[in-house]
Amino acid sequence: MQYRIPLHPPDISPEVQQALGAEIAAAGHSQQKAFSDFYAALRPHFPAREMLALNSCTAALHLGLRLLGVGEGDRVLCPTFTFAATVNAILYQQATPVFIDSEAGSWNMDPVLVEQALADQQRQGKKVAAIVVVHAYGTPARLDELKALASAFQLPLLEDAAAAFGAYYKGAMVGTLGDCGAYSFNYNKIITTAGGGLLVSKQPGLIEQADYLAGQARAEAPYYHHEQMGYNYRMNGLAAQLGALQLAHFRAKLMRKKQLFTTYRQLLEGVGGIAFQELSDDVESNYWLTSFLAPSEEAKEKVLRRLRGQGIECRMLWRPMHCQPAYSHFPFYSSGVAEELFQRGISLPSGVGLTESQQQAIVELVEQSLLAD
Ligand SMILES: *Cc1c(COP(=O)(O)O)cnc(C)c1O
Repeated sequence: MQYRIPLHPPDISPEVQQALGAEIAAAGHSQQKAFSDFYAALRPHFPAREMLALNSCTAALHLGLRLLGVGEGDRVLCPTFTFAATVNAILYQQATPVFIDSEAGSWNMDPVLVEQALADQQRQGKKVAAIVVVHAYGTPARLDELKALASAFQLPLLEDAAAAFGAYYKGAMVGTLGDCGAYSFNYNKIITTAGGGLLVSKQPGLIEQADYLAGQARAEAPYYHHEQMGYNYRMNGLAAQLGALQLAHFRAKLMRKKQLFTTYRQLLEGVGGIAFQELSDDVESNYWLTSFLAPSEEAKEKVLRRLRGQGIECRMLWRPMHCQPAYSHFPFYSSGVAEELFQRGISLPSGVGLTESQQQAIVELVEQSLLAD
């Protein structure tokens, strides 16, 4: 279905389109320039991190797990409330995901359950090899508590910051607080390269190794020489150039996202029992997708029907991984929160091109569907 107001269309301004056209025209020698432009644009966001542009965040997660030592038969803790890519990256390493439920306020992985799971897995004699945290919808998870647990159990922490580029935890960009961080520049994310990802790490040598594996593990030699299995995970130059151009306008975009969220929340909070994702004083979200919980599953259905009927795209929140036929057989530490998020949650159109009157109309439709009987 074609929506009149899509959920989150990519924001590629006419200026960017024009500049990109010029870059394509100047191609040939520009691959190197594209990457140096992209890394230069990223550098202010990651002053102390090495980084590697890849063709997806899924690739970044996979390389991160492999280089942090996750292998066959290992167990890896991750939230059940996430996108499947997080789990797939664990499975690519032939490891077993151990799902952790969310906490009610932030919707992110609950550190209390993480601690229980770590102790329980240890009692069972299972080898946990890493913890993966996800910053759901651009809202930072409880990194202090998770880092403390990772260090108490001597485990690496990998941050799936796919949708959280530009979100901060106590003043630091999320994705830079764990041993590795992975970001997505997919079509629907806050910065898009039409498809791409980024791996960052402070571990010496890790990014160099990742670069080598991402290029089919082609070793230095006068001929094609391979000592390990590699992947075709590198970003292409055109994507890098698009990324560089997009990042130039990032601050303004971030401010607009926050404004959209703040307006939605001001107008809707409390209406018919709506609850928004809670933001603690320690965090600054990037407000990727404004999302809220309707008072009940039936109310959610009403809102979805009313908005979609008007050509407005809105989406349910993630269906938890432990409920997915592909993953339901893996261990799960439950509090029931993620299932409730799925039952009651809705994401609203959050593209930076949304006009004030469109936003107003969306708010009115949400109100009408909740207040009508
Ligand atoms: C979008 C997303 C991914 C996947 O990113 P790709 O770049 O498409 O591979 C992974 N995890 C989460 C939480 C996401 O939202």
